[in-house]
Amino acid sequence: MVALFSLQEIFVMIVMKFGGTSLGNAERIKQVAELIKRRDDSFIICSAMSGVTNSLVDTSGHWKAGNHEGVAEIVAGLKKHFELTCYDLFDNEKATLEATSIVSGHFELITGRMGEDYSIHNENWLLARGEIITSEIIALYLNSCGIAVTWLNALDFTLTGSDGEPSVTDMRQRLSAMIGDNPSGRFLTQGYICIDHEGNTSNLRRGGSDYTATLAGAALEAAAIEIWTDIDGVRNNDPRFVEDTFPIRELSFDEAAELAYFGAKILHPACVWPASSDNIPIQLKNTLEPDAPGTMIRSGTTRKGITAVAAKDGITVIRIRSDRMLNAYGFLSRIFAIFEKNKTPIDVITTSEVAVSVTIDDDTCLPAIVPKLEKLGKVEIESAQAIVCVVGDVLEQHTDRAGRIIDSLRHFNVKMISYGGSRNNITVVVPAEQVKDILRSLNTLLFGTVLKQVTDG
Ligand code: ASP
Ligand code: MG
Repeated sequence: MVALFSLQEIFVMIVMKFGGTSLGNAERIKQVAELIKRRDDSFIICSAMSGVTNSLVDTSGHWKAGNHEGVAEIVAGLKKHFELTCYDLFDNEKATLEATSIVSGHFELITGRMGEDYSIHNENWLLARGEIITSEIIALYLNSCGIAVTWLNALDFTLTGSDGEPSVTDMRQRLSAMIGDNPSGRFLTQGYICIDHEGNTSNLRRGGSDYTATLAGAALEAAAIEIWTDIDGVRNNDPRFVEDTFPIRELSFDEAAELAYFGAKILHPACVWPASSDNIPIQLKNTLEPDAPGTMIRSGTTRKGITAVAAKDGITVIRIRSDRMLNAYGFLSRIFAIFEKNKTPIDVITTSEVAVSVTIDDDTCLPAIVPKLEKLGKVEIESAQAIVCVVGDVLEQHTDRAGRIIDSLRHFNVKMISYGGSRNNITVVVPAEQVKDILRSLNTLLFGTVLKQVTDG
């Protein structure tokens, strides 16, 4: 008999990533278990229970400051939090005991470590405990309910190079050595945590579980990557400031990458590329409404028009002016080299013949950057600014869309405009205090008619 499908063709591994609030207490974990049960083959990635990473960050702050009482207080509170979750989660004595002894074992290790001096390596080791303890409790719970999962240690397959970045190829090799090339069944592991190029426990920065999920999706050639949170996908505008926002059903990878930078709370900004380079759809889903469509991010979306408006505050504008820039070559590259040396990413850039303005959102290295820039020209710094970005097909023909967007901002104090970098966005920089009003005004301009159509039925 001739086989109709090769193994590769029927292999439908799905990555399912659950965020901290979706795992925030026993009840939420039980809801997640129901979702996991629906699939036979999945690679499940857990964040730490909500609040845990924040508490571990606070603990590290006290550790660094030599405040032993502060450390002891938070650590005791965290242990209690995990134990109470275990009491609520497990309904038989044997499993409860097993779970609480997992917790005690980890906290013995933590207390031992806290006796050492603070170091960044010790801090990173501590931060990783949130994901490890959470995932062990959840794996035990699932197995105790008959939802079989194999627990994997993410530190065995998430390694970063000397640039601090993970590699899909490396992850693929390590995972295939651990679980085979065509794995089936359910695997459960941690997001966020990794081993750095010197062999120390480290992490992919806050919110990094999304990144682990898309890297694993690419490494496993998964059919889809589901990011489960407790919101209804990406919205077209910021619901904290604007009424009547609505969820966006479909986004292209490029649009998602633009928006992730602004809405990092929904999606980690780095997490789009592993999925887009292998063309694996990312689906943002809501654990509280599992059957709602959420937001689908994939290539080949053909929708025209404006998709969303988003903003990010905490932006610093740096303006460098120099007559020497006129007709000179290499001027911009000298400026960029200063930022590169100080590992500070630049987000928005505008230039004229004699000046260049750039924005940064991390001003940690500004004191080191400014004196070097001053050797190239006169430098002005403006903090408390914001970037507002309109995402969608801004260049769509015959619409005069860009003109209308810019015209609508005439009453605001626009410092920079970036247009033409891609067909996907127009970005403006404005004082942070004007953001709320700009988002509202753009909402009326860009989505007013959509809303009207919806209300008109
Ligand atoms: N637990 C980590 C954090 O809170 C990673 C994540 O949730 O994505 O940032
Ligand atoms: Mg997150």
